[in-house]
Amino acid sequence: MARAVVVFSGGLDSTTALYKAIADGYEAHAVSFDYGQKHRKELEQAAKIARGLGVDHRVVDITAITGLISNSALTSDKEVPEGHYAADNMKATVVPNRNMIMASIAIGYAVNVDAKAVYLGVHGGDHFIYPDCRPEFVRLLVSIALVANEGFIDPGFEIITPFLNSSKADIVREGAALGAPLELTWSCYKGGARHCGRCGTCVERKEAFLLAGLADPTSYEA
Ligand SMILES: [Zn+2]
Repeated sequence: MARAVVVFSGGLDSTTALYKAIADGYEAHAVSFDYGQKHRKELEQAAKIARGLGVDHRVVDITAITGLISNSALTSDKEVPEGHYAADNMKATVVPNRNMIMASIAIGYAVNVDAKAVYLGVHGGDHFIYPDCRPEFVRLLVSIALVANEGFIDPGFEIITPFLNSSKADIVREGAALGAPLELTWSCYKGGARHCGRCGTCVERKEAFLLAGLADPTSYEA
């Protein structure tokens, strides 16, 4: 069975991506990153979801570099902004080069286990504030992976981004159709025991279930 490495945070997008990789016929190797994020709860949820699936799951501790990428509300004492995603207030949640750092490690892991693909759960709605969620980033990432690992990587290696042009509601719909335990996924950036219901990612989560026409299984503070 061909292998795929899935960058898996325990959120809606990457959980659905993990289920999609399995549905696509891959032996999935899930990899999560501890980069010192406030919302560490997502790592616990990721572990639960991976256990439920019985897939190989690694948590990579990259907290040694947290101090180098601390210019974000997710990795510092800065306040996480509330309200709907908008370019000005959500810029505070951009972690410098995050997807590149995680993807780079995932590609190394993929070469190591002879995987044919890396799945990334990046999605369309993130493009306007997160430059590393754009199609151009993904296209160049495949090219650089092939060049950097020539002779060691599968020549047909792919970066698979099933939701690059999807809305969050599309992802919720697909996750539900694939049987993913969406109630176990974690979105909130605030780091509480429950979803706050007010930060940009909670607002987006609520809206996605609403637009998908599915009952939201999440317990929100507000
Ligand atoms: Zn929240």
